[in-house]
Amino acid sequence: MQRTPIIAGNWKMHKTTEEAREFAHAVRSLTPKENMDTVICAPFTSLDALVQELEGYPIAVGAQNMHWEESGAYTGEISPGMLTSLGVQYVIIGHSERREYFAETDETVNRKAKAAFAHGLTPIVCVGENVEQREGGKTKEWVREQVLRAVEGLSSEQAKQLVIAYEPIWAIGTGKSSSAEDAQDVIAFIRSTVEDGFDAQVAAQVRIQYGGSVKPDNIGTYMEQPDIDGALVGGASLTPESFLKLLEGAR
Ligand code: PGA
Repeated sequence: MQRTPIIAGNWKMHKTTEEAREFAHAVRSLTPKENMDTVICAPFTSLDALVQELEGYPIAVGAQNMHWEESGAYTGEISPGMLTSLGVQYVIIGHSERREYFAETDETVNRKAKAAFAHGLTPIVCVGENVEQREGGKTKEWVREQVLRAVEGLSSEQAKQLVIAYEPIWAIGTGKSSSAEDAQDVIAFIRSTVEDGFDAQVAAQVRIQYGGSVKPDNIGTYMEQPDIDGALVGGASLTPESFLKLLEGAR
């Protein structure tokens, strides 16, 4: 099964709209690579500008969160339909920072994943263990639960289009990336978990990224692994130079 690799930048809470525009101009020189999906997940305030600036270029735009309801009395929230109406195609769901600081749970992650599919958005669902879980040998047990709860109630067709990002929390923004072999081991396990939740065909098609201190000089080691289909990249996606180097390194 040939899966299309997917490299996604996660800008987190960085860049004004003007800075996002400047970034988009700088990365337009990108030569389209066949068979690789490229995404920038930006703050809500920059999504419209990015979609406009990148129209016709091989970079899709993603959000970093959303609500699952279509509309209503949810002050401060953004709905899936608001994102698709801008031309946004992806949405990160359940990033560990949202789980830790904004009380996201496996249940909200599941609701959001379902809402994303209902609106034609591709969810990038994040899972990953913290340092205590890793040291206590609980990594697989933990990510298995996170994955199964996230995909509950999805159809096989939806699950095939899902992107899962395995991001060990201890590796995010720390410079302490997981070794490619360790990441491969957990990601292969996540794939087998998807098989348990659905079937072998779904497991063979679902794309699973590694995230956590991915840089231009280590991305290649992850891409070589048989089960790793790309990367979710924070810090190293913030400058056009570094972002373009990442894409080069992923080839
Ligand atoms: P990092 O962040 O690449 O800066 O470690 C990754 C992420 O949080 O998605």
